[in-house]
Amino acid sequence: MDTNKIFTNEKCIGCNRCTLNCPCVEANVAHKKDGVKKVDVDESKCIKCGKCLSVCTHDARDYTDTPAVFFLISRAGKISRLLLRPQSAAMCQNGRV
Ligand code: SF4
Ligand code: SF4
Repeated sequence: MDTNKIFTNEKCIGCNRCTLNCPCVEANVAHKKDGVKKVDVDESKCIKCGKCLSVCTHDARDYTDTPAVFFLISRAGKISRLLLRPQSAAMCQNGRV
């Protein structure tokens, strides 16, 4: 299983802000499930820039909390949200990132 990824959680309402702001538009896949719109991430296209984490106003974009994803997103300036997560904060305090 690939644990290095950005993904959409259950809070998504299909507003497409992520798609409109993503540098790889094709990384966002819109679909309907039980009549509800949702936009998922195509892992094979996503470059893990972290942009969708900051533009989604529904807190519907999430990430697996691995050092690889942390490095990629923090390099793109999205570190403040990550530091709200205890696991990521612990990694910083331990000097691992
Ligand atoms: S992930 Fe967020 S920005 Fe993207 S469609 Fe869902 S609610 Fe909108
Ligand atoms: S992390 Fe970047 S490339 Fe991946 S879906 Fe979000 S905005 Fe697009």
